[in-house]
Amino acid sequence: MLSNYGMAKRVLLLVSTTSYRADDFAVAAERLGVEAVLGTDRCHQLAELWDRSKFGGSLQVEFRDSAEAAARIVFEAQTRRYDAIVPTDEPTAEIAALAASLLGLPGNSPAAARTARNKRLTREALAREGVPSPPHQVFSEDQAPEAVAARVRFPCVLKPLLCAASRGVMRADDRAGFVIAWRRLHALLQTPALRAVEDPDGHRILVEDFVPGAEVAVEGILSKGRLEVLAIFDKPDPLDGPFFEETIYVTPSRQDAATQAAIARVTGDAARAIGLVEGPIHAELRLPAGAPPQAIEVAARSIGGLCARTLRFGLDGRSLEELVLQHALGEPIGPLERIGAAGVMMIPIPEGGVFQEASGVAEARRVALIEDVVISAHPGQVLVPLPEGHSYLGFIFARGDRPDAVEAALRDAHRQLRFRIARTLTG
Ligand code: ADP
Ligand code: CA
Repeated sequence: MLSNYGMAKRVLLLVSTTSYRADDFAVAAERLGVEAVLGTDRCHQLAELWDRSKFGGSLQVEFRDSAEAAARIVFEAQTRRYDAIVPTDEPTAEIAALAASLLGLPGNSPAAARTARNKRLTREALAREGVPSPPHQVFSEDQAPEAVAARVRFPCVLKPLLCAASRGVMRADDRAGFVIAWRRLHALLQTPALRAVEDPDGHRILVEDFVPGAEVAVEGILSKGRLEVLAIFDKPDPLDGPFFEETIYVTPSRQDAATQAAIARVTGDAARAIGLVEGPIHAELRLPAGAPPQAIEVAARSIGGLCARTLRFGLDGRSLEELVLQHALGEPIGPLERIGAAGVMMIPIPEGGVFQEASGVAEARRVALIEDVVISAHPGQVLVPLPEGHSYLGFIFARGDRPDAVEAALRDAHRQLRFRIARTLTG
């Protein structure tokens, strides 16, 4: 892809230490003939894990302070022109929005990116605009849980305001359960990395009504505030708590056409209420019987982990990353048809400990419809299950004609896998 000056276009790709996505974006950039510069907070040694030759250079950015990170990018952009800044997760979405607004590049407003990332601001925006979403209250982590428990309805969900990947999200059905869940979340918020968060919302707890029903995820792209739905994923494993582990995603959705239309409508309304107008979004909604879909969350980023690998668009099988880069560079992205069904299983952590090895991977790969099995945990890695943890053992990918067959293949493949996990002294 060439710019007006005949030079290859250049994007700055913001990738956090813990992200899996750098490689897939690098491949996408290469296919599009776009130069991708890697903006990362990975320390030098860790950055060696990535094949830097795939990138047109890299830029060390400390992501912890969004304003500082944006200033660093703007300074760098004086000597190296960027045509777009592409984030890959919620913290980098806020930095990208700040930097883009300072550089006059198209993107979301910093306020919108900040709202999307903060569960209190999201809930307030949705309620203000009348978008269906659960009623909520916010408390300080220092409040006495027994007193808070007297002021909430059951069943409810407790969650931190600034975390992701279901970290710290717990259901409570009564006062006694609430007090236990609150103490557990409070302890999580006292761990060093979360304790260090300067934003006061890092030290508050959101409590909202538990919304029953099936859950779906929506992948979309916004252009000038208009939502193009790229995929609706069913999450066929029930997410009823007490913790909310993501496992299987399958698309296309098996919900009926009217429900899917309502899902798209609420997602678009939620994005607009938050103020998001440009770029990828990943939303979660619950579908209570006899009520409109309820917006749980809209993130200003594309789907996380390696899950985007389930999506292939058009006859040339373009990746979601290619679409995201094309859109960021102002290129048209159609056509977007997808053929057949696809799914991914985020492999849950069965127990805490130190990861030793996975077996049965070859057998899992041989299951019909299975495209790939990726074990992303590395030997020696400390595995922390939900609700305190926020990672997976790996990913299983399947593709076929029908969503039910894809789902069955994912379950079959998962049954082939065995994980050796050593107990730690504390585990
Ligand atoms: P995160 O940003 O950590 O993913 P979410 O708010 O999206 O946090 O919550 C994670 C998961 O917890 C959701 O996908 C859903 O399954 C469940 N969940 C969260 N809030 C509710 C709710 N109010 N009612 C029912 N389930 C919920
Ligand atoms: Ca979520």
